[in-house]
Amino acid sequence: MYPRLEIDIKKLRENARILCDKCHKNNLKVAMVTKSYCAMQSVVEEISKEGIDYLADSRIQNLKNLQNIDLPKILIRIPMISELEEVIKYADISFHSELLVIKRLNDIAKLKNIIHKIVLMIDLGDLREGCFYDEEIYYNVEKILELENIELIGIATNLTCYGGVLPSKDNLGRLASIASKIREKYDLKLDFISGGNSSSLYLLDNGEMPKDITNLRLGEAIVFGKEAAYGKKIDNTNDDVFKLVCEIIEIKKKPSLPIGEIGVDAFGNIPNYEDKGIMKRAIVGIGKQDIDISSVIPCDKCIDILGASSDHMILDITNSKKDYEVGDKVEFLLKYGGLLSAATSKYVYKKIIKETVLA
Ligand SMILES: *Cc1c(COP(=O)(O)O)cnc(C)c1O
Repeated sequence: MYPRLEIDIKKLRENARILCDKCHKNNLKVAMVTKSYCAMQSVVEEISKEGIDYLADSRIQNLKNLQNIDLPKILIRIPMISELEEVIKYADISFHSELLVIKRLNDIAKLKNIIHKIVLMIDLGDLREGCFYDEEIYYNVEKILELENIELIGIATNLTCYGGVLPSKDNLGRLASIASKIREKYDLKLDFISGGNSSSLYLLDNGEMPKDITNLRLGEAIVFGKEAAYGKKIDNTNDDVFKLVCEIIEIKKKPSLPIGEIGVDAFGNIPNYEDKGIMKRAIVGIGKQDIDISSVIPCDKCIDILGASSDHMILDITNSKKDYEVGDKVEFLLKYGGLLSAATSKYVYKKIIKETVLA
């Protein structure tokens, strides 16, 4: 069935292995972030054999689906008050920045008679979640330590997400020094110091990762074989783990300029076209309801994506060396947004390609 998202498990496992080795050599644990492929259970089960230390996701529904996998689970999006019952149930560790929420979590943990582990988020300048000012950090720590059913195991930061701020020796160094101050001041172990996502990896190659950082949370790096600060390929990894395969539903020669007075397109935008004369155009059965089309790349380098409406994506196949016919399949590699949307769409089938075992 098409369109479909194909997932090559062998390649994904290789990526996970290489990244785990790289991190472990640098005394870092790996929290594998599973959100970009909706934490598909059979996929996560396979990869988690490669030396991963924690499973991490921003959605509690995803962690719920991973309950049968025997690894500690981290909720990495600070939770909504309305989901705290689930957080206690399905996450072993959760990330936080709001005292009000942590207190409510403590109340629920008390009722269930358990101790829940939390990590305090520190904002080092990317301006998404986390405590920004020093006073706020230490005030929060003091208040958290008063809560009987909450254990503060560490601090974490997130960079290169909203503000695009790169991790550095300086900003992660500040995280490390906040951790040691908290340890001294409150006599805590505090051994979970999470130094960011796939954009922090480049610091390992430069030898600039502060040694007090104890783990990284890796999504993109495992999935695409790329570090996320500069988009550099990681040696020996695969960049074609995920492929989107679509079917051609129309091929016709048509002009490149629409005929008639131009109003707005299906999304209310005023379109702008370049006249390239008559071209050979193919339509594949996928659209903006399924994928972020700015985030898909045709594997056939001679194909250009002209655009899409909600259910049709239009390709220029004029220059392709392949003689496409209606019913043929066209393959695409995905960028982050493309993978997120294809994995999430219920109209995109998922096909897991397992290692072929030779007898
Ligand atoms: C998504 C996310 C990650 C993973 O980011 P990648 O760039 O995919 O490695 C890590 N931490 C948090 C808090 C996230 O939301």
